[in-house]
Amino acid sequence: MTRNTRQKAAIREAFEHADRPLSTDEVLAIAQTAVDGLGIATVYRNIKALVDEQWLMVVELPGEAPRYEISGKAHHHHFRCDKCGRVFELHGCVPAIEALAAPGFLVRTHEVVLYGLCVECGQPPAA
Ligand SMILES: [Zn+2]
Ligand SMILES: [Zn+2]
Repeated sequence: MTRNTRQKAAIREAFEHADRPLSTDEVLAIAQTAVDGLGIATVYRNIKALVDEQWLMVVELPGEAPRYEISGKAHHHHFRCDKCGRVFELHGCVPAIEALAAPGFLVRTHEVVLYGLCVECGQPPAA
C-alpha cells in the first residue's frame, strides 16, 4: 500500500469503528494512531475526497464546525454531549413530528438534535 492509500484507509477505519459523526480533529486523533506523522491537512484533503465520492456526508449542528458520517444510513438524528462535545447517532425519529406544523403548512424537512450528557459524562464521579 502506498502512503496515500494507507492514510485514506486509516481515515475510513476511524469512521467505521467510531460509528458516530466525527470532526476533523477527532479523525486526526484516531487515525494518527494508525499512521505515523499524519497531519490535519491530509485529514482535510481525504475527508473532502470521501465527501466527493459520497462515502461521507456532512453533519451540521447549529453553531458548530462540520462533522462527517458514513453516508447511506437510514433517517436518523443526533445527540450532542455538552461535556465532551461528542455527537452520537440516535436511531429513528419522533413519531408524527411533522404533524406539529399548523394545517396548511407544508413540511419539507426537519432537524432534531438532543443535547445533554452522554453515558460516560453523566456518571457520578467514582467514590
Ligand atoms: Zn460526554
Ligand atoms: Zn426525523
